[in-house]
Amino acid sequence: MTTLLDIRRIYAEPAATELPRGKEILARFPQAQVVPVESHNRIPEVYGDETNVDRWVRIKREALVLGVKKSLTARPNGRSADFIAPSTANGCAMACAYCYVPRHKGYSNPITVFANIDKITGYVRRHAGRQGTKPAPNECDPYAWVYDIGENSDCSVDARVSDNVRDLVEVFRSLPNAKASFATKHVNSDLLGWDPQGRTRIRFSLMPTRDAKVLDIRTTPIEQRIAAIDDFVAAGYEVHVNFSPVVVRDGWLADWAELLDQLDAGIGPAAKAQLAAEVIFLTHNRDLHEINLGWHPKAEDLIWRPDLQQGKRSQNGFWNVRYRTGAKGRYVAALLDLIASRTPYCRVRYAF
Ligand code: SF4
Repeated sequence: MTTLLDIRRIYAEPAATELPRGKEILARFPQAQVVPVESHNRIPEVYGDETNVDRWVRIKREALVLGVKKSLTARPNGRSADFIAPSTANGCAMACAYCYVPRHKGYSNPITVFANIDKITGYVRRHAGRQGTKPAPNECDPYAWVYDIGENSDCSVDARVSDNVRDLVEVFRSLPNAKASFATKHVNSDLLGWDPQGRTRIRFSLMPTRDAKVLDIRTTPIEQRIAAIDDFVAAGYEVHVNFSPVVVRDGWLADWAELLDQLDAGIGPAAKAQLAAEVIFLTHNRDLHEINLGWHPKAEDLIWRPDLQQGKRSQNGFWNVRYRTGAKGRYVAALLDLIASRTPYCRVRYAF
């Protein structure tokens, strides 16, 4: 862990340091220098410099931002979750080449943790209470309203910084109609002791090792993520897999076949009985591509493929690319066929 996180500086909003969770976090990192900041999202030395690539990883490892989450909302989602819960953190200590999180926030993007956890858990309880019983099954879940609690961060790493994620897992344990969910690329065995009672779904992200070695920087290796699945099921989590992003290249289907065989061999009957997956093909972004060329051009050979991709300007002005319509449908169908033949017990919740 020392290489993933070695917190030396905590940029803190004074209001956050007054709250019990803020105090706990400061106490967890007594060696860190505390730098008061007016607002957690306006720290030029942390977020401002998109070109200072060499500093990113250092900032990710050494800096933590402590703030107060101002606006609390649960946004409707409908794909991996019914709702996106108000985040208890954003940013990430890992550095996946395709990550969309830094498209919205400066590129070094270290972890920002929110100290007003009581407000956030209270909001989630009330929001779930207002939904009542889920009227009909959908692709998120047959019975429970699913809340994604890790849209802008990786909860397994966040749990190394504060008890926010644990608090949420405990809240969901007592909500009869709702369930928490988050995707992760990091194995944190501390979570095994939290007794989630089936009310938290962890989605381990998987891709062929050949891709992960180039793209999933600073994450837990794929074989260790697979090896963790049985332990998390035994500990009371619902465990799904998140096949994402799927990267198309020469030999991609053969490598996915190998990954599915690895998964099949690596998990036991209890995990298989409850397994489901989501399948998300790669999307990429021109600005991120330009930035990545400066530090990791090998990744761009894999994920920036104008010969296979088409572009579209998004509402907020970003130039995003995805695999071409038509060919993409064939890729999706080919991978779904492969899943059906190699891991037939693995229900696919959605694929696109
Ligand atoms: S683990 Fe998730 S949030 Fe972190 S860099 Fe990778 S894709 Fe982004």
